[in-house]
Amino acid sequence: MRPVIFLSLLAALLVLPAAADARDPNVAALQVALRARGFYAGAVNGERGPSTTEAVRAFQRRAGLTADGSLGARTRVALGAFGRHALGSRPITTGVSGWDAAAVQFMLAWQGFPSGAIDGQFGERSTAALRQFQRWARLPVTGVTDAAVLKALRAQPARSPVRLAAPVAVAPTDRFGPRGDRFHAGLDFPAARGTRVTAGASGRVTHAGPLAGGWGNVVTVDYGSGVEAMHAHLSRVDVRVGQRVAVGASLGAVGATGHATGPHLHLELRLRGAAIDPLTAFPQTRTRPADPPLEIKPR
Ligand SMILES: [Zn+2]
Repeated sequence: MRPVIFLSLLAALLVLPAAADARDPNVAALQVALRARGFYAGAVNGERGPSTTEAVRAFQRRAGLTADGSLGARTRVALGAFGRHALGSRPITTGVSGWDAAAVQFMLAWQGFPSGAIDGQFGERSTAALRQFQRWARLPVTGVTDAAVLKALRAQPARSPVRLAAPVAVAPTDRFGPRGDRFHAGLDFPAARGTRVTAGASGRVTHAGPLAGGWGNVVTVDYGSGVEAMHAHLSRVDVRVGQRVAVGASLGAVGATGHATGPHLHLELRLRGAAIDPLTAFPQTRTRPADPPLEIKPR
């Protein structure tokens, strides 16, 4: 084997770790950098798929580099402001921007603390999310990243400690996860307007009525073990705050109140304040292929 071939094989192996981990924060940071340069319009999902590799190639061609789709040092430098600052190379807090800031925003979202656009620009909102995460992870609440924060951010996201019955008898579509350059922190059930929304277990109602932020009419139920479920965009509310509900009790009806393009139930599950994947509470539920987003302004 000629040394040059060997070296390029080695380089290829070094830049391919994303295949093993479908939500690689470094791939998300690459997608943010490519978006900032106008070469990528796909989701910031941390998945090194064909569209990301093609965007890297297109960028390399434009920058006069070898268009091999791999992420060498020269490509990182050419990417500019968002190609710089490796994850862990410096503390992240308000005002910091770059590759590492994008990676931290992405990891915060998966840990249940999304903060708007994942754009590599760490603002007040991202720092607020970081503080919430630090409190949640029982770390010192500094609003600044360090090695302990990065380690906690790399942990598997929490799962629901309780099992719930599905709130409507319709297969959910739009899942918990990246959506465009943002993060969809819940699960969407595309049920017809007026479909009854029912309690997933016995619990206590903690909110019943309109909620600011585009959620429309909302019912929130505390199911114990630190788990709260939020049911948004309801056309009708059937309960009041403080009321105890049994599994299957009617909470309200599906609607399109707030920022929604059509009737659906947006269900969000929180564990001690962190948004968690609601599907972890419904192990039997299967999702359908994703439809166009049902919300105009996801969080
Ligand atoms: Zn939703």
